[in-house]
Amino acid sequence: MRIGYGWDSHEFQAGVPLKIGGVEIPFYKGLAGHSDGDVLLHAITDALLGAVAAGDIGSYFPPTDPKWKGADSVIFLEEALKQVRLAGYTVSNVDSTLILAEPKIIPHAKKIQARVAELLGVQPNQVSVTSVLRVSKVLALVSCAALLLT
Ligand code: MG
Repeated sequence: MRIGYGWDSHEFQAGVPLKIGGVEIPFYKGLAGHSDGDVLLHAITDALLGAVAAGDIGSYFPPTDPKWKGADSVIFLEEALKQVRLAGYTVSNVDSTLILAEPKIIPHAKKIQARVAELLGVQPNQVSVTSVLRVSKVLALVSCAALLLT
């Protein structure tokens, strides 16, 4: 059994789509980033990589590399899953908390849960997506833990 922990934050930016957990959420601003800014997928990616001590998202996809400009963060998650499998583990569950002032995540939580589960190749009941409406309107933060089993 291995446990990994992931954390990420992105600033909101007008005029870009908001993607959280691979789901596009209707909102008047999105998250800035070198990639598509999917803060949840980034935190899960780091939790998975951390669980098998296989580095972090930046060691596979440096933000300085123009190749990853605007990249779909699903690519990052897939690399992390590959590393998990190479190390001989499978995902048992992922627990994540989004910390942001807006938009409200609850109306989208089921869809995000289903999409993340699909991406991880697990059942929705192995993925928890919760949120707390706090902090500023400037940042979206995610804290995430992943449990892996052999
Ligand atoms: Mg990030």
